[in-house]
Amino acid sequence: MGDSKAFMIIRREMPKKRTISERVRDYNEVYLPMAEDKLKAQASRCMDCGVPFCHSGCPLGNLIPDWNDLVYRGRWKEAIDALHATNNFPEFTGKLCPAPCEDACVLNINDDPVTIKQVEVSIIERAWKEGWVLAEPPAIRTGKRVAIIGSGPAGLACAQQLNRAGHTVTVLEKDDKIGGLIRYGIPDFKMDKHLLDLRLAQLEEEGILFRAGVIVGVDITAEELRCSFDAIVVATGSIAPRDLDVPGRELGGIHYAMDYLTQQNRKIAGLTVDDAEFISAEGKHVLIVGGGDTGADCYGTALRQGALSVTQFQIHPEPPKDKPELNPWWPTPALILRTGPAHEEGGVRAWGAHTTHLEGDENGNIKALHAVEVERIEKSADGGRQIVPVPGSEKVYPANLILIAIGYTGPHRPGLLNDLGVAFDKRGNVHTDSDYQTNVPGVFAAGDSRRGQSLIVWAIAEGREAAHGVDKYLMGTSRLPLTAYK
Ligand SMILES: Cc1cc2nc3c(=O)[nH]c(=O)nc-3n(C[C@H](O)[C@H](O)[C@H](O)COP(=O)(O)OP(=O)(O)OC[C@H]3O[C@@H](n4cnc5c(N)ncnc54)[C@H](O)[C@@H]3O)c2cc1C
Ligand code: SF4
Repeated sequence: MGDSKAFMIIRREMPKKRTISERVRDYNEVYLPMAEDKLKAQASRCMDCGVPFCHSGCPLGNLIPDWNDLVYRGRWKEAIDALHATNNFPEFTGKLCPAPCEDACVLNINDDPVTIKQVEVSIIERAWKEGWVLAEPPAIRTGKRVAIIGSGPAGLACAQQLNRAGHTVTVLEKDDKIGGLIRYGIPDFKMDKHLLDLRLAQLEEEGILFRAGVIVGVDITAEELRCSFDAIVVATGSIAPRDLDVPGRELGGIHYAMDYLTQQNRKIAGLTVDDAEFISAEGKHVLIVGGGDTGADCYGTALRQGALSVTQFQIHPEPPKDKPELNPWWPTPALILRTGPAHEEGGVRAWGAHTTHLEGDENGNIKALHAVEVERIEKSADGGRQIVPVPGSEKVYPANLILIAIGYTGPHRPGLLNDLGVAFDKRGNVHTDSDYQTNVPGVFAAGDSRRGQSLIVWAIAEGREAAHGVDKYLMGTSRLPLTAYK
């Protein structure tokens, strides 16, 4: 434990952000690095609890008090070793995770939690700078071949674990570049993509084979895959978008969030984008339907593209700004207002707003969105939800671009998943046993395709767990570590 009294004296401090006027003019990261002395002071707030709830808040079971202490003492090399022991890609989680560990931190009962995420990202950034992140190829190969379908964080974590266990791993990806949603979904202002490329270079050096631009189920059949590999891991994500089922949906100027975000990410990376097809918010009234992270990413992107106005619709009412003095939700996340950097940059959030219909102009393009204020949400007779509006609350919002960000319905089934013959759970995700094996022997699943649209930290955790299951299937036993939540 760093300093036994620090948590009583030192207040939580977050890293500084670039000014709003500067950051909305580019797509560079919002947060600035934290000075070492400040970071050590923040790490010293950790109480090294007898029962560290941060461990259980983190799906990876990260050894948080250990590396807080090591950072406080300036033992950075040991800190990265402790961090890598449970997390293959701390730069992804350090930059992008909503940090359930901080919600669970014991200090969060009556104070502000330790800045765990900032300590994490600072450790890995230091490690990259010092050249401590090296390839760790296996000493011997088992001769077993594993195909991993999908190169998001679940597929990549699974690949690294299995490769280190000595198996020959091929990652197949339908996009032209490796990385899954980290490559084409998440905007650069949240995480610069050079971090993904650095990590991919390490994975390649370790001997993992990458094949981008291959749609498995089309370019390679499920049958061919089964003949060529000893085990298969489905890590195809869950990006079949939920549609906005209201009159006027067919109008021009209405797009899914992912189509919009992917184009901008490609443009920043200098990749080909069809100019005629490019969806731009410039000079437009932009309405984002959906109050989650994907919506917030559209929000920040639209502001950077020069939108005339940006409004994000959220069906639920505005949560309280502050947590109650004694947070009754601890150690689970508090239902308080969370404001990401994008929401500070301009635009507005419309709370308790429900879209009723969309209105077009004479050319068949979107002109306005009609919405009502939600009084309450009830369960409908068919088990769905029934919106009860506030009488007379209809409002009309001018709109030239509508982005749909109301979630995902599950993994894409036609082709690969149907051809493999895997079973699905009642939520429509790939069903597995506790070893992450599907009903088809030798076929495993991990990440969003198994648990539904979730978080990067969960994808990495599932990739690690599935690797253990595959290794056990191939070798009869496995020494690959399981995560703490199992
Ligand atoms: C816009 C957006 C922003 C997000 N922001 C955050 C955030 O800030 N923090 C956070 O923790 N989480 C965030 N998430 C969620 C997070 O990105 C996902 O939970 C995570 O990426 C899931 O990882 P995965 O490996 O399971 O799947 P994915 O990352 O979705 O990767 C699956 C890959 O499989 C490929 N694939 C699919 N089918 C085939 C096929 N037949 N053949 C070959 N390849 C195939 C896909 O092209 C894709 O590259 C965000 C999600 C979105 C959509
Ligand atoms: S719960 Fe918070 S204070 Fe306790 S060990 Fe974890 S990070 Fe430190």
